[in-house]
Amino acid sequence: MVEGLMIIGCDIDNVISNYFEYLWNCLFSKYPEKLQGFDRYSIDAWSVEDWRTPLTSEEIYKVIYSIDLSRLDILPGAKDFLRRRIKNVFFISSRELWYPNTFPITFAWLQRTLGYPVLPNHLLQIDSYDKTEIIKRLDCDFYFEDNPSTATNVAKMGTKVLLFDYPWNRNVKETKNLIRIKPPYWQNVAQIWQDI
Ligand SMILES: [Mg+2]
Repeated sequence: MVEGLMIIGCDIDNVISNYFEYLWNCLFSKYPEKLQGFDRYSIDAWSVEDWRTPLTSEEIYKVIYSIDLSRLDILPGAKDFLRRRIKNVFFISSRELWYPNTFPITFAWLQRTLGYPVLPNHLLQIDSYDKTEIIKRLDCDFYFEDNPSTATNVAKMGTKVLLFDYPWNRNVKETKNLIRIKPPYWQNVAQIWQDI
């Protein structure tokens, strides 16, 4: 495939941003005694109700909804990889489900952390984990994701999915359209990019 013509769809949280790491640090600073010794990498469920931490769902949700999204960091290597392909990258986030009306915050964060102008129509912030219609409409050749069900459904559609490896998606099986990317994520994406 000609590199300049390919369309890349890209999730934001835990793929470009360090959302979970940031959330965990917020949880830990609020509940240090309860979380002392708890391994955050043992959180193998997507749903907060199934996390099995010493915290209640209410305590976790309270911290989730208090997060200042503009303070997240970009994952190492994301900037370099995406900058080279920026005309062909669409950012597709389900943030609207958790953080309604935060498109301007997300857009400003992308511009700032990536360090170059992003076209407003290249950011799609939706209120669903079902991204299949958007990805079909954009005719994406590749999609980068960490959510297990989103990744599985997009791969079934025939789009090549690069699944960023996290405990909550370990049950997803690799297929010819679904490739698991281990950390350091973006360094590994850059390395395998020529071969896929
Ligand atoms: Mg995500």
